Amino acid sequence: METRIFENTREGIKSAATLIRSGETVIFPTETVYGLGANALDSLAVKKIFTAKGRPSDNPLIVHIADFSEAEEFVENIPHTAKLLAEKFCPGPITMILKKKACIPAEVSAGLDTVGIRIPENKIARDFLKECGVPVAAPSANISGRPSPTNFEHVFEDMNGRVAGIIKGENSRVGVESTVIDLTSDIPTVLRPGGISVEELSEVLGDVLVSSELKDDGIPKAPGMKYKHYSPKGQTFILKGNVTDVAGFLEKRSKVNSVSVLVFDEFIEYMPKGINVISLGGKDDPKSAANRLFDALRECDALGVREIYAPEIPEQGLWRAVKNRLYKAAAARIIDAKSAKSVLFVCTGNTCRSAMAEGIFNISHKNAVAISAGLFVNQSSAEENAVKAAAELGTDIKNHIPRQLTPELIENSDIVLTMTDSHKKSLVGFENVITISGFVGEEKDVKDPYGGDMEVYRSCAREIKELIEKIKL
Ligand code: AMP
Ligand code: MG
Repeated sequence: METRIFENTREGIKSAATLIRSGETVIFPTETVYGLGANALDSLAVKKIFTAKGRPSDNPLIVHIADFSEAEEFVENIPHTAKLLAEKFCPGPITMILKKKACIPAEVSAGLDTVGIRIPENKIARDFLKECGVPVAAPSANISGRPSPTNFEHVFEDMNGRVAGIIKGENSRVGVESTVIDLTSDIPTVLRPGGISVEELSEVLGDVLVSSELKDDGIPKAPGMKYKHYSPKGQTFILKGNVTDVAGFLEKRSKVNSVSVLVFDEFIEYMPKGINVISLGGKDDPKSAANRLFDALRECDALGVREIYAPEIPEQGLWRAVKNRLYKAAAARIIDAKSAKSVLFVCTGNTCRSAMAEGIFNISHKNAVAISAGLFVNQSSAEENAVKAAAELGTDIKNHIPRQLTPELIENSDIVLTMTDSHKKSLVGFENVITISGFVGEEKDVKDPYGGDMEVYRSCAREIKELIEKIKL
């Protein structure tokens, strides 16, 4: 589809609003991130949002309105807590979950009996919403799973050709999404930390709970939380430790992989050469970190780096929102710069066994980072069945690029794990080389699934997973 680009002029806003009223999708800037909007009362229009983003249909959308006074048209009864929050924080980066009226279609609420209401503060967003004259359902305007877009270039990169229009605006001021607070429970509960901090909310409401994201039975409370989020293409880890240890670890990793580090300004000068350094702003400046975060993750993608490290983040104030996004991008993988091990998996071609091992190992939450390499590499991507088998075990190796084993890779790894005894034997002279089974006190080869059917790959992936589970570092 052809995507029309609108400038922030009266004409531009008018034309964009006309598209919304005719059931089309339009992306608009807000102070948090850019939103991908459609008429919230039109279920067909709303479905186009899910298609454009590739968003799972059980993840509800936030409904944007120009003024809080309009909320009563769409929600059942407005609790006192909502009025208090509206007075203090609206317009602004906050979304209130309230009981919905029947006019809000199930596509918006993903079948729930509640709806998220937000009144953005951004001038363009407000002009646009007023001009639309209908509530606008809008999630972040990124391809599902990718970092949220905070400027026009990000939006264009993900969404050109997928939506009817984009209103070009300035960079998002806040840079992380709105705080989502559930006002239908007895005690107001923050489901997603965001631009308004828990401390600010408590000042107005008294007791505020922060959802642990998962219920006791492991089911996510805000439906969006179960999905992979904000993820750049490179493997992302939270790296904890003092600056000397961090610099030492990164130096070591730079010898085996392409590396980016997100770092506070105060520590930039200590970072080793040969890695890409991206500033998160000052270490005491959460606003700047929030503002730069998604841009930083996208920069890593643009550079094509394969490993990304981010610092530990405090919990208070706006930091909580930054921490939430970064830890999701890292799938909560936290490693310790002083003691984390560098692991190298080796097989023949680095398209099946060792590629799957790398992927499975890196989601196993050990204090280590893995890469993989092959003795004779002649392919440029992982085998399709290996990608599928790895995906079934929860790890994504579709971007894997097979890598030729070199002595330097071995020398700069702590542990080198081969799939078979003959792989090991071909690497005589290196003391850190052992078969993966030998490392866990067993004696067997992980056989090559190449040329086998899907079941062969599946069972190979399971075998590798079982061995990895036994690895103690
Ligand atoms: P996005 O707009 O892509 O940032 O996603 C909207 C977020 O708000 C997701 O995490 C949703 O799960 C959450 N959300 C929206 N509506 C509701 C609702 N009715 N109940 C709980 N969470 C919601
Ligand atoms: Mg989103």
